[in-house]
Amino acid sequence: MSSSPVIPPENLARVSDALTALARAGLPALEARMLVSHVTGLSRVQLITQDACAIDVAARARISELAARRLAGEPMAYLLGEREFFGRTFKVTPAVLIPRPDTEVLVEQALDRLEERDAPAVLDMGTGSGIIAISIALARRDARVWATDASADALAVAIDNAKALGATNVQAALGDWYGALAGTDAPPAFDLIASNPPYIAATDAHLDQGDLRFEPASALTDHDDGLRHLRSIVAGAPARLVSGGWLLVEHGYDQGEPVRALLGGAGFANVFTAQDLAGHDRCSGGQWPDQNAGARSSLK
Ligand code: GLN
Repeated sequence: MSSSPVIPPENLARVSDALTALARAGLPALEARMLVSHVTGLSRVQLITQDACAIDVAARARISELAARRLAGEPMAYLLGEREFFGRTFKVTPAVLIPRPDTEVLVEQALDRLEERDAPAVLDMGTGSGIIAISIALARRDARVWATDASADALAVAIDNAKALGATNVQAALGDWYGALAGTDAPPAFDLIASNPPYIAATDAHLDQGDLRFEPASALTDHDDGLRHLRSIVAGAPARLVSGGWLLVEHGYDQGEPVRALLGGAGFANVFTAQDLAGHDRCSGGQWPDQNAGARSSLK
């Protein structure tokens, strides 16, 4: 195929023309509707009911530009600047990983485990756009949630999202994993620690495909075997969890077994793995033993 076809803005005079022109250029119908809706401000229903609506010259140029970038592979989420997650719209920029529905499994598992706890302290490390921290904070207004990231640009997106979505119970901290908490007023121990760290192995061919080509490498891969950050997160968790507290991590479809082994090896109890919608192992966790149950004395 030749390089991305240019869509002449003059072919985008009305809504119906624009949808036809984008489809002819090779854009899937849904993406064409999303782009036209985004630029014109018309809802997707209005695109149908007002399909003769004129598109102004500036909007035609913008649609043409976004369509060309999409045809060159840029992710829809970055072009639109937003993505849905757990029923809400989050701002996203190329500084953050694009929210995946897979990560909703982690949020559901976390909320289940927080059900019995009043005013829980929660930590989300490597928060990116803030989806995990903010979804938990909004479902549990009594929770105090800390969201960390090593990237200042990513943390700024998380802070914007927390503000826009009214998650006033989220606090942001810049830095690597547990180190981000130094000098903050975070509690010494949390009821739940969650993380969706970079877990793709450096050699994984997926890094050169699809949306991943445009996402921050530092949010996707550990430039190692895929388990480097998961190891650090598991190793540091016992010192930062209350007894009975939970650690939950997202991981790759083939990392369930090694992550369960890491958790078990570190002394976690009730170790489990949950599957994503595609049926792949996606999230594992464990509970730091309750000291009152005398389990701690048996730990290595
Ligand atoms: N699940 C993402 C993917 O495979 C990766 C997310 C991550 O590295 N944390 O595209």
